[in-house]
Amino acid sequence: MADTTDRTPALRLILATRNAHKVGELRAILGAAGLDVELVGADAYPEVPDVRETGVTFAENALLKAHALARATGCPAVADDSGLCVDVLGGAPGIFSARWAGAHGDDKANLDLLLAQLGDIAPPHRAAHFACAAALALPDGTERVVEGQLRGTLRFEPAGANGFGYDPVLQPDGYEVTCAELTPEQKNEISHRGKAFRGLVPVLRELLG
Ligand code: IMP
Repeated sequence: MADTTDRTPALRLILATRNAHKVGELRAILGAAGLDVELVGADAYPEVPDVRETGVTFAENALLKAHALARATGCPAVADDSGLCVDVLGGAPGIFSARWAGAHGDDKANLDLLLAQLGDIAPPHRAAHFACAAALALPDGTERVVEGQLRGTLRFEPAGANGFGYDPVLQPDGYEVTCAELTPEQKNEISHRGKAFRGLVPVLRELLG
């Protein structure tokens, strides 16, 4: 009888991130959905350069990253792009979320600047949401995008030590705590990224068989 324990998965799927946490998150979602894919991070392809995010929407940037990786590796690729969109700021910081205060990825400076900008804005006008676009690109150029949101209200002061970025100031609708006070599992269940990644499952089933 054939040994099925070390069977090779049907297909290799590349995730355009060097963040092991994101790879684990999507792997868990694909595993729970019973999809027969081997998910690997972009770290497995160190020779492939990072893509400049020249798009003006989350979807455009996610597609740029997914297409570049699919072309370079010859494998289907998934990429995501996300950020915080504040209603009273007309959707900003949006695609500039990671570098709102100037330096890329300075979470504390970004958060401090945002809170200062909104200092005089009263609670009824502090609505905001996290947004995520998850893109799938195939080497033949086929593409799909799924978007997810997590809506909430911005606090005046940060609270909580979990998560990253703007998590300490966004209180999701229906909750009395911020995203940084949720466990990673609780946040994944309601998050923009969780919704977008889970939305990719039927798309992957359709395109990859
Ligand atoms: P990236 O697309 O994952 O690189 O995220 C871009 C930026 O958006 C991050 O640097 C954060 O500032 C912000 N951001 C995206 N998702 C989240 C989240 O789940 N919590 C807090 N901040 C986030």
